[in-house]
Amino acid sequence: MGSIRLENVEKWFGELQVIKGIDLEIEDGEFVIFVGPSGCGKSTLLRMISGLEETSRGRILLNGDDVTDRLPSERGLSMVFQSYALYPHMNVRENMGFSLKTAGSPKKEIDEKVGRAAEILRLDDYLDRRPKALSGGQRQRVAIGRAIVREPKGFLFDEPLSNLDAALRVEMRFEIARLHETLGTTMIYVTHDQVEAMTLADRIVVLKDGRIMQIGTPRELYDHPDNLFVAQFIGSPK
Ligand code: ADP
Ligand code: MG
Repeated sequence: MGSIRLENVEKWFGELQVIKGIDLEIEDGEFVIFVGPSGCGKSTLLRMISGLEETSRGRILLNGDDVTDRLPSERGLSMVFQSYALYPHMNVRENMGFSLKTAGSPKKEIDEKVGRAAEILRLDDYLDRRPKALSGGQRQRVAIGRAIVREPKGFLFDEPLSNLDAALRVEMRFEIARLHETLGTTMIYVTHDQVEAMTLADRIVVLKDGRIMQIGTPRELYDHPDNLFVAQFIGSPK
């Protein structure tokens, strides 16, 4: 189960308020995308949900439990980082199993979970390679594999494809859609790429200056933008 609920969530950095009165309910299994211009607060909001960033005001609930003051490791959500965050001196197997190893899981269990994740991500034949001997797409899949082995209630992605070239971005977009279909796990995904948002999302949350401008399915936002900002951002006529 991975329902996520934000109640009047706010964030200040000193005097600067960057997240303003966010209310949002995400259903278990939903694929929700945060879009909006650079600096509008997408990463900050995602980091608050993950617990990497403190919440100044309001509440965050996971499956009904108030986790606002809990550590990231106590929330059961996995953040997927960009592929350059892989450990260069470890092979694929070690990279994917590392968090389980530090948590003290037995080797047999780690091998099983890494094996299953590698199968889902089609990395079975690459387990003994180091990151530098992999393609960009394979590296990004290893970064996702590191999150999968922890069997999270939800995945949080912050622009995971932004450092990949255009062709690879398209390939990985399909890969992530397939992953969501396979696992059925809740996903929150930050991007400033409208095409990514329109093709992947069950629902899109459009942010501007720390506020929600509109929430809806890609179709709803495209056909019925509430305001000019959403229309221009999504690229629909209004
Ligand atoms: P986005 O991911 O949408 O580009 P961010 O969430 O990174 O936006 O940033 C939102 C706003 O918060 C920006 O104005 C940014 O400068 C500011 N900000 C982000 N992190 C910090 C921080 N640690 N200290 C001060 N200001 C920050
Ligand atoms: Mg960001």
